[in-house]
Amino acid sequence: MKRLQQPAIQAADTVQACVAGISIAGRAQALTDALPTIQRCEAEYLELGPPGQLYRILPSQGVTPAIDAELMGVIYKNHFLRPGSPSRALYDRIRMAPEFGFCPMCGHRNVATVDHYLPQSRFPTLNLTPANLIPACSDCNKRKLATVAARAEDQTLHPYFDDLGNERWLIADIQPSTPPTVSFDVRAARAWDEVLTARVRNHFAVMGLAELYVAQTSSELADMSYGLEIIGATAGPVGIRQHLDAQFRSCQARDANSWKTALYEGLLNSDWFCEEGYGLIRNRHPANQVPIVLHLP
Ligand SMILES: [Zn+2]
Repeated sequence: MKRLQQPAIQAADTVQACVAGISIAGRAQALTDALPTIQRCEAEYLELGPPGQLYRILPSQGVTPAIDAELMGVIYKNHFLRPGSPSRALYDRIRMAPEFGFCPMCGHRNVATVDHYLPQSRFPTLNLTPANLIPACSDCNKRKLATVAARAEDQTLHPYFDDLGNERWLIADIQPSTPPTVSFDVRAARAWDEVLTARVRNHFAVMGLAELYVAQTSSELADMSYGLEIIGATAGPVGIRQHLDAQFRSCQARDANSWKTALYEGLLNSDWFCEEGYGLIRNRHPANQVPIVLHLP
């Protein structure tokens, strides 16, 4: 769930580039004729997007009498995306916009595709509209599917329009167990209203982020296990806290609400983890279970 700058491309750019690459004369003309309709729908989208009102846009069967939803899907897939076509560079610009190639929907996996925020099967007039095209990983793309929200609070987050702010809202809870049990949840930020809070929770559930982050956490804990035991043996809980605090601050400086930021804050705030839990991770590879030998001065 990361904000992205809206592409500096309009539907007129994508449609005209697409037309330039279509050799079927009737199809190219039909798409040119559809441009005013596509631009009218783009204007509505750009008006309703920032206040979180996209759910009010009505689905349609086609763009014009000459272009139904199916043909618009063919135009997107066979012409807009075609490698070497005049429009492919615009598609690539949209797909490659996120920093480090991270999917903005989950903030973790790599971008693999472009998702239509309002699905192309039901909103063909927005099929080539850049503001409706979101870079996404395959999993987020599949999880969202072609569902359409009927209410404001049922909408997933839109990376170009929704700003969650910099306040901490992703929280990790640590429960005593061997190995430690970590779970993730959303804590509403003070700046959010009820609808935005419901949308963040909905996004979290639809994209399966709690499960994704827990899976990553298991690996992260295993990586830090040996190092923490050394710190614990030399500097005790105070040293553990200092180490976790530095990690937390470092992660927070880049992203206040990444799963790593939340994890380190949760570990840091858990007295149980800092006093004994760090020694109970115990899922290092058996061959690496070497005893810790301290070389004290
Ligand atoms: Zn994703």
